[in-house]
Amino acid sequence: MKRVLSGMQSSGQLTIGNYIGALRNYVKLQHLHRCYFMVVDMHAITVPQDPAALKEQTESIAALYIAAGLDPNKASIFLQSHVHAHAELGWIMTTLTHMGELERMTQFKDKSEGKESVGAGLFTYPSLMAADILLYNADLIPVGDDQKQHLELTRDLANRFNNRFGDMFVMPQPYMPEIGARIMSLDDASKKMSKSSPNAGSYIAMLDEPSVIRKKLSRAVTDSGREVKYDPQNKPEVSNLISIYSHFAEMSVVEIEAKYDGQGYGPFKKDLAEQIVAVLEPIQQRYHEIRKSGEIFDILKKGAQEAAEVANETLLEVKKRMGFVVI
Ligand code: ATP
Ligand code: MG
Repeated sequence: MKRVLSGMQSSGQLTIGNYIGALRNYVKLQHLHRCYFMVVDMHAITVPQDPAALKEQTESIAALYIAAGLDPNKASIFLQSHVHAHAELGWIMTTLTHMGELERMTQFKDKSEGKESVGAGLFTYPSLMAADILLYNADLIPVGDDQKQHLELTRDLANRFNNRFGDMFVMPQPYMPEIGARIMSLDDASKKMSKSSPNAGSYIAMLDEPSVIRKKLSRAVTDSGREVKYDPQNKPEVSNLISIYSHFAEMSVVEIEAKYDGQGYGPFKKDLAEQIVAVLEPIQQRYHEIRKSGEIFDILKKGAQEAAEVANETLLEVKKRMGFVVI
């Protein structure tokens, strides 16, 4: 049995990109391995968050985890800020990280681009993410393609620690879907779909009403052709929609291409909206029940206790090896 860890930032509402790239795999992996899934609220504050919105988003994501099929009896589900060892090992990892390594991170470049002032936490974020993973000595990290670079840094930091202070950490590996590891924006296929985008038309949120999903898809950018064909190089917009279709309908790319052969984009986009609605509607129903019941707080409390047991032990060992006085 492997150890699995991952999390979503409470920086907005979960999108179908988060679902396809990561959450669906969380649900699958909980049956196979020892899993830790958190809402990474401390990462969310690397960009400014309104306090009321942050609280709502954090609770909402935790409830969506359960609504999408995570089982608190199978996986530990918790908030990053509830397990203090994350902040502490995060600081330690920051001291082991080189400035040049952080400067190379494309996420930092993307998120800081054009901003007048950028918080230092956005820059050092990858060191905290390394701590998140290493605290559980996790082998498998279900993430989207955009996190690959941060995971490579985590492995470099694990290696650096092992070399300086003695072997302790395993090398974590990404776990990604073959198709859909990078779902692109509906309005611009050169940018990944992101929940923190200021343009709500660029993403489909897991909690979007069916009418909103239909509208967003009808407005999704395509090309001037009419062939439903998977060709990411030449038809990035349509290929992105095919990837999404493939996940929601559980159909292969070839089957989808055959189904819409000669029909143009209209029927394809309409059906895609219905496929998404069919999967999301029951999740949304469960979500509203879970929010009403208040059960999420007990789940998060239990999850944090389970996580802290492992995390505190790792942190203590790290501190001993580095020469901190431990009494
Ligand atoms: P933000 O804009 O605040 O960074 P985000 O949508 O990128 O939000 P994260 O919380 O950063 O979401 O990432 C949560 C998980 O979802 C990660 O595993 C990430 O790799 C994955 N993910 C994010 N966006 C996509 C996407 N467009 N396609 C596939 N996976 C994605
Ligand atoms: Mg992100």
